[in-house]
Amino acid sequence: MTDGTTRREFLGSMAAFSLFPFEQEKPELILHNGHVVTMSPTDPVAEAVAISRGRFFAVGKNAEIMNLAVPGVPRIDLGGKTVLPGFIDAHSHPAAAGLSHLRMVDCDLRSISAVQAAMRERAAKTPAGEWVLGFKYDDTKTEDGRPLSIADLDSAVPDHPVHIEHRGGHTVYANLLAFRKAGIDEKTPDPPGGKIDHDPVTGKLSGRVAESALAFFEKVLPHDFTRDDHREGVKLISKMLAKTGITSATEAQGTPTDLRAYQDARDSGDLLYRAYCFINYRFIDAMIDAGVRTGLGDEWVRVGAMKLVCDGSISERTARLSVPYEGRPNDYGILVMTEDELYTHGRKAHLAGWQIGTHANGDVGIDTTLRVYERLHRESPRRDPRFRLEHCTVVNDGLIARIKALGAIPTPFSTYVYYHGEKMRYYGAERLNHMFALRSFLDAGIRATQASDYPPGEFIPMMALQSEVTRTDAKGNIWGPKQKITVEEAIRVGTINGAYASYEENLKGSIETGKLADLVVLGRDPFKESPSTLVTIPVERTMAGGHWTFES
Ligand SMILES: [Zn+2]
Repeated sequence: MTDGTTRREFLGSMAAFSLFPFEQEKPELILHNGHVVTMSPTDPVAEAVAISRGRFFAVGKNAEIMNLAVPGVPRIDLGGKTVLPGFIDAHSHPAAAGLSHLRMVDCDLRSISAVQAAMRERAAKTPAGEWVLGFKYDDTKTEDGRPLSIADLDSAVPDHPVHIEHRGGHTVYANLLAFRKAGIDEKTPDPPGGKIDHDPVTGKLSGRVAESALAFFEKVLPHDFTRDDHREGVKLISKMLAKTGITSATEAQGTPTDLRAYQDARDSGDLLYRAYCFINYRFIDAMIDAGVRTGLGDEWVRVGAMKLVCDGSISERTARLSVPYEGRPNDYGILVMTEDELYTHGRKAHLAGWQIGTHANGDVGIDTTLRVYERLHRESPRRDPRFRLEHCTVVNDGLIARIKALGAIPTPFSTYVYYHGEKMRYYGAERLNHMFALRSFLDAGIRATQASDYPPGEFIPMMALQSEVTRTDAKGNIWGPKQKITVEEAIRVGTINGAYASYEENLKGSIETGKLADLVVLGRDPFKESPSTLVTIPVERTMAGGHWTFES
């Protein structure tokens, strides 16, 4: 074990050898005649792979691999199709989203009247007085040019409390009955770090609350999900992810319940992606007391970082900025936690051997989070802590130098430029050249990842590639062209860099002998595709651990 090799890396390489101790081991499946983009630094392109016990047994030229094909070994002719390592979504909320898809109305609709109709329809099937819940509503994507109001919801659904989560997850829209149940009236003061919106003229509730004010509703919303519901949620989202080529995802705001759901889904054969399950800071004492820390688990379900939240959101314009939002001269966004709180929670986890992942979007949020990390590192240095900056959206040269010096990992939104183009004007053309700053991160030698943040962002890896390579939205507007990266770089960001962010770069993220057999077969070659149509490349098959998790 040389100085440059961590204990974890050493053990990882030993595990790869010990799985294949004898010459006579035979492959269980051979894929040949492909254009295999491996992301291996030494052999970037191969033609065939042999798979055994869920791992790559051999990777190489057709002739080499076909030599291993003893009679009876199934083989698949890929017909020259492009194969990439399975994609790793380094920041998403899949278990939570799966549960929402099971129970709530999908409000990803294009008009207020469509949202009203969808909620009315659900209410008709729901006993009066019971909650009618929605999610994925986005005020900037409806044709009306204004957000949902309390009157819209009262007129659509008068006899049920209505609660609709914004797609970004940091604001909620409710009707009067819901406000009453939550104990909020016109005179209720804003809680620290939160906001209850009022009509500027009448002073009445507008229907929208933000950030920590969501807790009023949390207390009264139904929380009657059974253990089976949680497993079903993972099952549902598993299929959605596998279809797009994702083989691993970080549950970025996980709880012990999510961790159990993942284990249940794995046991029932329904888990189709590898989960790196963050644990929200509120549960960290119990986890530490139980002797749990980051890394516990196996290749399918692993305990991730402790999650903290520093500031607000980009899609809902509450991220904490040093320069106000365009056209809103007094609006700098929101800090959700103080630096002292971040430090107190962070120190506890850091000393107990946990990785930390802090949600930090605006430049002020990132600066604050970095100060906390720098202090922890100075006071209690730990080998390879891999501090994570969740989102890390608005940066500058000074912040990038500090991220590099600390070895921290940013997880910028991968599909926002393409999918959320209409929100980019709130940030202005100049600031966009410093947002989702993959070019700057990669040039500085920082291992940034692919991250959807689903539901707030779309999770389709091919959309991430197009967004990152073109910096162009669906309508053709270019946002922050200085941050464009190449197709090869975007694939690296979506595969091996994601593995590094969870300490698993020796286990997955590239197609190399001994690594987990996670891959995706594409209908067309992204290296030959026009950058403006990358999103249309079909995923033909997805494999995780040697098994097809999706076949078109
Ligand atoms: Zn998130």
